[in-house]
Parts: sequence; structure tokens; C-alpha cells
Amino acid sequence: MSQIVREKMEYDVVIVGAGPAGLSAAIRLKQLDPNRSVVVLEKGSEVGAHILSGAVLDPSGLDALLPEWRSMDAPIKVPVKEDNFYMLGPAGQIRIPNFPMPPLMNNHGNYIVSMGNVCRWMAGVAEGLGVEIFPGMSCSELVYDGDRVAGVVAGEFGRDPATGEPGPNYEPGMELLGKYVFLSEGVRGSLAKEVIAKYELSKGHCSQKFGIGMKEIWEIDPAKHREGTVTHTMGWPLGSNAGGGSFIYHLENNQVYVGFVVHLNYENPHLYPYMEFQRFKHHPMVAELLKGGKRVAYGARAISEGGYQSMPKMVAPGVALLGCSVGMVNVPRIKGNHNAMLSGKAAAEAAHEAINAGRSGDELSSYETEVRTGAIGKDLKKVRNVKPMWSKYGLVASLIGGGLDMWTNTLGFSLFGTLRHGKTDAAATGEAKNFKPIDYPKPDGKLSFDRLTNVAFSFTNHDEAQPAHLKLKDPSIPISVNLPKYAEPAQRYCPAGVYEVVAEEGKDPRFVINFQNCVHCKTCDIKDPSQNITWTTPQGAGGPNYPNM
Ligand SMILES: Cc1cc2nc3c(=O)[nH]c(=O)nc-3n(C[C@H](O)[C@H](O)[C@H](O)COP(=O)(O)OP(=O)(O)OC[C@H]3O[C@@H](n4cnc5c(N)ncnc54)[C@H](O)[C@@H]3O)c2cc1C
Repeated sequence: MSQIVREKMEYDVVIVGAGPAGLSAAIRLKQLDPNRSVVVLEKGSEVGAHILSGAVLDPSGLDALLPEWRSMDAPIKVPVKEDNFYMLGPAGQIRIPNFPMPPLMNNHGNYIVSMGNVCRWMAGVAEGLGVEIFPGMSCSELVYDGDRVAGVVAGEFGRDPATGEPGPNYEPGMELLGKYVFLSEGVRGSLAKEVIAKYELSKGHCSQKFGIGMKEIWEIDPAKHREGTVTHTMGWPLGSNAGGGSFIYHLENNQVYVGFVVHLNYENPHLYPYMEFQRFKHHPMVAELLKGGKRVAYGARAISEGGYQSMPKMVAPGVALLGCSVGMVNVPRIKGNHNAMLSGKAAAEAAHEAINAGRSGDELSSYETEVRTGAIGKDLKKVRNVKPMWSKYGLVASLIGGGLDMWTNTLGFSLFGTLRHGKTDAAATGEAKNFKPIDYPKPDGKLSFDRLTNVAFSFTNHDEAQPAHLKLKDPSIPISVNLPKYAEPAQRYCPAGVYEVVAEEGKDPRFVINFQNCVHCKTCDIKDPSQNITWTTPQGAGGPNYPNM
């Protein structure tokens, strides 16, 4: 690596990732000083291509960043009109009335949006202010200057698929250097992971917790479509096998987001999150809604669930972690976009103040103080005990105890203090011999689909002439350890069918990585019980091409 020479470009602030956090930071930096030089690097083929959050947007982040957004023709047009919450059994459902819910759970005042489209729109606003945005630029490495983060390497390609060494068409990419580097890579960012480990940012905090979220967009019978309706469910089909639940959001044009989240601290390694999602759509209430409709897109992405007590230290010399690279999702509300925006704004304000004072490359500690004590910290603190209760005591206890705790927190106190999270999601995985395999019904091709057919609806594409971007620390582990001990769960937890154990007669089983299918959800990096898989950025603009997820 040391002999590779790269062109360098210098900016005031280098931002990795054009999600709501990174774009908010870029916009705020330019609002504060139009002469500030700001670059945003995005690995998707275009802004929004990798954004999966068929979302109910709490507009508080946007209100703070762009108070005039309502007159700016933003793609935020569908206010929530109806909010339903159901507990499902195999053949029926019970509606939980809204009145016992703490006020923070209320969705009125929120909007059903495609966050991909919101990010495309925010990118236009940022460019209008003079921000440089480069899509198709994976940031593969950090650049250090002594102990500080000084920049990133982006746009490298042409490594040999077999050796990983520079091939005949090798392009080294560029070094983009900044007074400050913002990592807004979203959940389980690959560079953020390096920074968290190098500077021991998790010390003294709970380990981060995650879920895997899968989503389809359906076009349904107009007679069944109720624009502005939000439905959440819990219970069947997961039961006591895992935490999680579903969301169904009716957006515009007879489209519905149908999504399912499985908490990744499940123990039974036979659990198959993707098939749980497919099975869920056969519940009579859901099947009735979707019957006669068609699925037009599919995607998946991990979601951070650790909340308040899992937020690591978020600054180190020259670098700040933003949004879900820290983990700012309010789990019971399933909302993180507003906090991602607020964090981008706060990081920009801290960098602006620092640069004006002639500083560079130090820790933006005022950013961290604002996150922990300002609107983000207050939002997350109120709900901090819901997830640990759910993990320890199950769904019903967490609904009652977590509901009570959210109520008392709304009044300013908690009976429980701050509960800690348990083991990492990887360590929570139990041995296969202690659990029963789960028999999943075969997809019917109408309501439910096999995984590879669905992956085609994520429009995922990777140049095959590159080394696999999913790296095994020890290539022998999947077959020698994970297969006998955990029935190699990568075959099931990956929502894109990247990992296979191929057993041919007379031959030893082989572990195959179909990296071309990868939708960049990062579940493998999180859930592999041996922590042997490292997700790195692929070359070029590989990955999903989500239309309006
Ligand atoms: C299934 C699901 C449903 C959700 N529903 C909601 C909801 O209804 N409401 C809500 O408010 N929140 C919701 N969330 C949470 C929300 O998606 C996140 O809180 C939010 O996306 C965080 O924003 P971010 O900017 O931090 O990261 P992201 O939105 O993930 O954006 C990160 C960007 O960085 C890019 N990137 C990453 N690494 C690199 C790299 N090394 N180089 C270049 N580019 C890189 C990515 O391609 C991506 O475009 C949901 C999440 C999931 C998974």
C-alpha cells in the first residue's frame, strides 16, 4: 500500500455518506458559511440508491435544518392520517387502542415518505448551496496524519479479483483531506467501525444492538389503499423465537411499504429472518390487503437498536461520527431519520465554530455534548429501557413495563434507572444442537417469494471483476466451526442469499460467497457468531439501486 501514490484534494469538511445525516451536515455548513469547502462522497450509483427507509418521517429534524421546507416542493406530501397497532396471532389480530400509548408514540404530525427521494431532494438543496457531491465513490480507507484522521481514500478500483493486488486497469482513487472528516455511513459503517475500534470509543458504553429490516414496495388494489395509514404489528410469526415486528405504510399512488424487522439478538441459529418476513405476508389481515397487488421492489438494511446507552463516544481527533454510525434510532418509534438530521446539523455547527477559531483535526467535543444533552439525547433517553426489557423479559413484559417506563419518562423520571443491554448480537447466537430447526412454508410466488427472485427487485449490481468485498478473517471458520456449531447461520440471516454452503456428493462442503447479491445491509458483519466476516466497500458504484424505497 505504501508505494501507491494518490492525487489529493483538500476541503474544510469531508463527509462520507449522502444519507440524511451527511446531507444535513453539508447543508448546515454552507448555510453558516457559503465559502466553506464541503464534499460529500456516496457509494451508491446516485444519491438515494442505497437508502432503505420506507419511512414515517418525524419532521423535527427538517424543521430545525430547513424551517421553510414546506414551501420548497419537498417530496414529503403524505401526512399520517391513521395510526394502528395490532398484536397478531396465527389466524387473527387484536387491535391495541391508541389511548394507553405514551404520547411520543403518536404519529400524527409525521409524514410517510420515501427517504431515498427525500435524500435526492436534500442533495439538490446542498448542491444549490455549493456542496460538491460525488456518487459512485466508495470510501474504502481512512487517511491518518499522526494520531488524527485527516481524510479518506475514495474511488479506488481495478484490484485483481484473485489476488486483491492492483491489476492492469488499477486506479488508485484519490485522497480527500479535510480539517474535519464526518462519517455518516449509517448503521455499522465500515470506516466508523475502524474508528470506534482504534480510538476505543465504545469503552464504558453498552455494545450496539441491531435488527435486520426487510422491505417490499407493493402496488395494491386502489379499493384497499388508504393513503396516510400507518400500521405496526407484533407477535406472529416470530412469537418467542425473536423480537421484532412489521410495518405497513400507505404512501401515494396506491403504493404500500410492507416491512419486517427481526432483532438480531435471536438465539436459535435456525431462524431465517427473510422467511419470517415472507410468512408474515400470509397472515389473513396482510394477505387480504396484498391480494391482487404486485411487489415492485425489495430491499434490506440493518437498523441500530441500542439507543441511548449504546451510543459510543462520537468524536476522535479530526473525525466525528454522525447519525446511525453512532446509532440514533428511537426503537419503539422505529425512527432515526430526524435524529440523523439533527446530528448532521449539530456536527456542522461544531465544525463551523472550530474552523472559525482556527482549529483543525481536534475533537469536536461540543458536537458530542449537543447530541447527548440536546433534542437527540432527550428523544432517546425516554425510551432507553424498552429494548433491554424486550430482550430480557419478552414481548408482553416489555409492552407493559416499557409502556409504563415511557409514560414516567415523559413525566421526567424512570422507576428502572437505565437498564443495560446484554451480549452482542453475535454472541447471543446459540448452538444449533440446542434448538429445533424451523420448518418454513415454501413461497407461493404471489404473496411470498424466494430470496433470489426478490433480490432481483433490489436492482443490485456489482462489477464481477473485483475481489469479494466480504472478507473472511479465517476462510476455514465457516466450515470448520460455524457449520458444526451453528449450522452456518449466514445461509439464513443474509437477506440476499450471499452465503451458501455447497455440499456435492463425495466432496467436502464448501462455503461460497456470492458477493454480487450483496444489498449492503451489513447483517453478516454484525451477526456472524465467530465475528469472522468483515464488510468492506466494493469497488465502484456496486450495491442496490433502490427506486423510491
Ligand atoms: C427497515 C427500516 C425501516 C426504518 N424506518 C424508519 C422510519 O419509518 N422512520 C425513521 O425516521 N427511520 C427509520 N429507519 C431508520 C433510518 O433509516 C436511519 O435512522 C437513517 O437512515 C440514518 O441515517 P444516516 O444518514 O445516519 O444513514 P443512512 O441513511 O444509512 O445513509 C448512509 C449513506 O452512506 C453511504 N455510505 C455508507 N458507507 C459509505 C462509504 N464507506 N463510502 C461512501 N458512502 C458510504 C450509504 O450508501 C448511504 O447512502 C428505518 C431503518 C430501517 C432499516
